[in-house]
Amino acid sequence: MIDFALPVELDETELAVQETARRFAGDVLRPTGAALDKLPAEEMINGQSPLFDVHRQYRDLGFAGMRFAGDLTSRQKARLVCLIGYELGRGDVGLALSLGASNFPAMVAANSGSRELMEQFTPDQIGCWAITEPDHGSDELDVRATASHTGQDRGRANCIARPDGNSIVINGQKSSWVSNGSIAETAALFCTYDDGGEEAAHGVFLVNLKEKGVSRGKPTDKIGQRALNQGEIFFDDVRIPAGNMAVPPERYAAFANMILVRANSSMGITFSGLAQAAFDEALAYAKERKQGGVPIIQHQNVKSRLFEMFRKVMAARALNWQACMQNFTSADPRLEYAIATKVTSTQTAFEVASDAMTIFGGAGIIRDHPIEQMLRDARISMIEDGCNDLLGLMAAERF
Ligand SMILES: Cc1cc2nc3c(=O)[nH]c(=O)nc-3n(C[C@H](O)[C@H](O)[C@H](O)COP(=O)(O)OP(=O)(O)OC[C@H]3O[C@@H](n4cnc5c(N)ncnc54)[C@H](O)[C@@H]3O)c2cc1C
Repeated sequence: MIDFALPVELDETELAVQETARRFAGDVLRPTGAALDKLPAEEMINGQSPLFDVHRQYRDLGFAGMRFAGDLTSRQKARLVCLIGYELGRGDVGLALSLGASNFPAMVAANSGSRELMEQFTPDQIGCWAITEPDHGSDELDVRATASHTGQDRGRANCIARPDGNSIVINGQKSSWVSNGSIAETAALFCTYDDGGEEAAHGVFLVNLKEKGVSRGKPTDKIGQRALNQGEIFFDDVRIPAGNMAVPPERYAAFANMILVRANSSMGITFSGLAQAAFDEALAYAKERKQGGVPIIQHQNVKSRLFEMFRKVMAARALNWQACMQNFTSADPRLEYAIATKVTSTQTAFEVASDAMTIFGGAGIIRDHPIEQMLRDARISMIEDGCNDLLGLMAAERF
């Protein structure tokens, strides 16, 4: 294994956190992710599933909501977020993303500044980010509608919150892509807010998913990141207190921008970890597998392929570090930087996993082999949290 150099030296605390995250990723996430990958989507979320134990162990480590980081500065926290996310992605991206998505409601509550919301929505719960709707995928992320055709009607919302006295009543559904959708206890619900005004508006609502009127669809069966549960959430006259509107319409665009910066940055960090994991596997195999009388690493084409993989992983990691440090500590985070890291890392993860499969030859295509899972996991990252081409259009609109 080559430990890719970071453009900084780590202090003692950072080295200890990195080591803990690496151990959790290697000892827990990698084997559990591989086991969950083979289970039917519905079986993966039954009460005996190790998925819940992964969430518990993550909380016990103090990683959920970065509780262990206490009084650290935003710069110190940003460095730890980069270190931890990369290690978890190296272990298993499906589980890393389940753990990351879980913190959304607590993060929204903390951002609202409301003590009451912070007490109700904590990192100890399994949470989710419910934004995508059956008729609004890319549309929901393209908050400024910069990639839309002007003058076209985007169509009706699938999920609408309406004020009713001291309550808000929610009706409709979010799509089958909501990460942790079938298992979440709480949701950060990004949806249309209809207060009878002429303009359609959006808000963010914190919802306890044990409320009457909430139901779930079947867990989504998919080709990759199978350890990441996804599923629809339905709302039938679900009533929440008016104070659970954590972000009102007038602050929605700025807030959504901040969330998209976080989400794209986290994706970048996590998938640079997957790219590194695929490289590690390929390098170890190339040293051990003999063909033509020598370990295959001695063949020119294998060497040059490994170098290309190394170069891409190193570049993705350096870009992530630089863009995340800038965005996580700046008063004016730049979505285009975050999108550049997401697109670079996911593309790199896919290309490196594919090259790793070539280095493994026939062994790499066998089910149960880590490489074939990594390739499937990497492929869907280029759609996840926004298709890369659409994200690129959104970024370029900000130049
Ligand atoms: C693994 C995974 C995890 C996810 N997690 C979550 C989650 O936690 N919460 C959640 O709410 N959602 C989640 N999603 C949903 C995800 O954000 C959407 O799938 C994504 O935004 C794309 O939406 P869509 O699938 O409806 O595709 P569509 O929007 O229908 O897009 C289809 C194609 O059309 C292109 N396209 C669409 N609009 C434009 C445009 N204006 N200009 C140019 N091209 C365009 C797209 O690039 C794409 O190629 C997840 C998805 C995946 C795959």
